[in-house]
Amino acid sequence: MTTWTTVAHGIRHARFEPIDVSITVIHGRERDGLLLVDTRCNPREGGELAGEVAALDIGPVTHVVNTHAHYDHTFGNQVFTGAEIHGHAGIAAHFREFEGPRLEAWTADPSAAPQYDWTDVQLTPPTHPHSSRAEIDVGGRRVELIPLGPGHTDTDVAVHVPDAGVWVLGDVIEQSGPPLYGSGAFPLDWPEVLRGLVDVIGADEVVIPGHGTPVDRAFVERQAVMLQVVADVIREGHASREPIEYVAERASTRSGMPLEIVESGVLRGYQQLSALTG
Ligand SMILES: [Zn+2]
Repeated sequence: MTTWTTVAHGIRHARFEPIDVSITVIHGRERDGLLLVDTRCNPREGGELAGEVAALDIGPVTHVVNTHAHYDHTFGNQVFTGAEIHGHAGIAAHFREFEGPRLEAWTADPSAAPQYDWTDVQLTPPTHPHSSRAEIDVGGRRVELIPLGPGHTDTDVAVHVPDAGVWVLGDVIEQSGPPLYGSGAFPLDWPEVLRGLVDVIGADEVVIPGHGTPVDRAFVERQAVMLQVVADVIREGHASREPIEYVAERASTRSGMPLEIVESGVLRGYQQLSALTG
């Protein structure tokens, strides 16, 4: 069985393999509200998660929030269609651009990407999409949903539980590995998103990352600095038309992030800058 850690009153966090996905459970005052943040990598893992949550004996899942569109946070959604599914308004479009084509390619030839188990995945975007700040009532508990600007993706949402001083941020913050420039990342804009969060997160509040153990505001601040170093090197390199591989090496050395991670960020940043300059 999974070990759930109580991070604040009525808020539990657990880390699930594969890929160390953070799952957070937020329950209301009574047994009439239970919010699940993210749904794991496929319907089988989602089903296992549903069983683990049922075993907590704190009532049925009434709300789901997806922190962003990536598969390891949304491909279990179809298991929870009895609940309201909340998320960024951009998730459906992100599915059409990235997850849909990847799922189609995988279905045509699963052996090309055996690390995924996407059999029977039905892409299930939020039933309650948000393009601006919203509040939901979870069994008498107020939970804030704050769509963020482009960063890890253009579908990132911050979940805040004010009475508990807890933030659930998805992959805009990663603790067990470096932040990833995955599909649909915005490496040049991401640091600004983190600085905006630093402005509103309290010094004693808890921050749950998309992967890893809970952190604090100071950790978010350090990750903002690191991602800004990468963004600055991308801008410099692009302005002087340097080859991507040199820029990636310099970005890796200066930021301390692994080269193979930074490379995809530099490539994406160059594409975005080239699109701007034509
Ligand atoms: Zn992600």
